[in-house]
Amino acid sequence: MTLFDYAIIGAGSAGCVLANRLTEDLETSVCLIEAGGASNSPLLHVPAGWAATFNHKKFDWCYKTEPEPELNGREIYWPRGKTLGGSSAINGMIYIRGVPMDFAAWEQAGAKGWSWEEVLPYFKKAEKQKTHHDEMHGVEGPLHVQDVRDRRSVHETFLNAMEERGIPRTKDFNGQLQEGCGYYQFTQNNGRRWSTASAYLGPAKQRRNLTIRTQLQVAKVLVEDRKAVGVLVAKGTAQETIRARHIILCSGAIGSPQILELSGIGDKERLQGLGIESVRHLPEVGENLQDHLLSKVVFGTTPENSINREVQGPRLISAAAKWFFNRSGPLTTGSAPVGAFWYTREGLEAPDIQIHFASGATLYNNEGKIRPLGQAAMTAVVNQSRPESRGSIHIHSADRNDSPTIQANYLSTELDRRTMVKGMQLLMQVFESPVLKEHVTGRLSPSADLNIEDEAAILEYVREDASTVYHPTSTCSIGKVVNEDLLVDGVENLSVVDASVMPYVVSGNTNAATIMLAEKNADFLKATITPGLKRR
Ligand SMILES: Cc1cc2nc3c(=O)[nH]c(=O)nc-3n(C[C@H](O)[C@H](O)[C@H](O)COP(=O)(O)OP(=O)(O)OC[C@H]3O[C@@H](n4cnc5c(N)ncnc54)[C@H](O)[C@@H]3O)c2cc1C
Repeated sequence: MTLFDYAIIGAGSAGCVLANRLTEDLETSVCLIEAGGASNSPLLHVPAGWAATFNHKKFDWCYKTEPEPELNGREIYWPRGKTLGGSSAINGMIYIRGVPMDFAAWEQAGAKGWSWEEVLPYFKKAEKQKTHHDEMHGVEGPLHVQDVRDRRSVHETFLNAMEERGIPRTKDFNGQLQEGCGYYQFTQNNGRRWSTASAYLGPAKQRRNLTIRTQLQVAKVLVEDRKAVGVLVAKGTAQETIRARHIILCSGAIGSPQILELSGIGDKERLQGLGIESVRHLPEVGENLQDHLLSKVVFGTTPENSINREVQGPRLISAAAKWFFNRSGPLTTGSAPVGAFWYTREGLEAPDIQIHFASGATLYNNEGKIRPLGQAAMTAVVNQSRPESRGSIHIHSADRNDSPTIQANYLSTELDRRTMVKGMQLLMQVFESPVLKEHVTGRLSPSADLNIEDEAAILEYVREDASTVYHPTSTCSIGKVVNEDLLVDGVENLSVVDASVMPYVVSGNTNAATIMLAEKNADFLKATITPGLKRR
């Protein structure tokens, strides 16, 4: 049986980075194992295609939270990428890094070596920035980061409205200061989505030392004498063992704690209760979950202001032609083209809310698929950058096919509730600003009769309507489950490298930080672990 140097479990944002970096040394063999399939579908390459991947079992794990106590018992739909590229293949493409104080907080939580000064070089190493060429950006990395292509006058109007409310313009959210309002940068190359499969697997997949296995679900890590020795993989009812000298879980904030628990690594009592033999008692596996909760404001507008009519019916053909022939038009946009980072109160070191704005509005239909609203409308959403609420993700049976139990515990602290209410008030004030007034026909959501001063009513609206920005993190945190080198506590030859290791969710969208942490850990593995593997 082949013995690989490394087995990487999950070809998502982090897994593709590691597969590339570790096989730069042609003497290092890597097996990359992914539960989903290849990323051939146009839905994964045309930026606007992401909405059509929702609840599409071929690309999406289609998770749901448990009924959320502070969201009136609602279950929140959680898409997660299941293909080469993982969630970077179905995400909104926004490129944001977070702020220096995020990484100072990581350090305080035990992540020695992860200060802003130490992580910035790895953000830059990953990045191929097209527009902003200064000391904050990289231009030689594999990850194309480019400005919004489909700029519209309504974007400018919304930005002007935010300026009127005191939020200054910024040219670059990833510059020295995050605060302000402006255009987002996307992980795209010439109007095409640039997932980590495109950025990192594309250049590496021909290497003879890289084996890529798709449609294989890892059922558990095999551990002998407290050492990881391989993984048990399954395809339907067929099972197979893949052996490696070092195993790296890159299965995401849901998949990694799930696999650890299925392997007997987690809270001993919990696992024994499910009939799973305990291999290592690590009670924090699956705990400390964080996510960004969003709440929306939707206004009706004139047809020419909204992209809704351009992306449905016969006009969709014209939009598709624009993308295909010129890489232009509404289909080049991932999620929100413009937004802001701002404050809900004084005395903060960095903004505590993020805003996304899109000149369209969508609905979930009965199957959970996203579709454009029938009428012309535009949407802005707000989320708290650094929520305090923490939840958990745990298996509830020993069956690998059972989705784990996700309890996000959104809004479980007073600060989180207050910040969301203040954020919503700010957003509604922006829509009331004189420059926007002539472009809107009336508020659709929250309903027009909701009084913007009524904090209790706004909180009730948030409870009834809020959903996720899709940023789960921290379920295998540094300092609790892995050490600062991302090695699992008490089990040799086993790492976790993905969004689950972040001690706190970063102040912004989480893809860039996940890629950064994989870049940084690749250097650690190459310098420290790989030489040892070769001696074995
Ligand atoms: C709909 C959506 C929109 C988003 N929008 C943005 C955005 O605009 N900007 C941004 O910065 N972030 C965004 N995010 C978040 C960002 O994409 C994620 O934080 C990031 O991709 C997480 O990377 P990861 O490596 O931790 O996990 P993932 O990229 O999810 O990778 C995990 C991989 O492991 C595989 N896997 C899981 N379990 C197993 C198993 N048992 N066996 C084998 N393989 C397995 C999965 O199939 C997947 O490919 C979004 C996410 C989603 C879902």
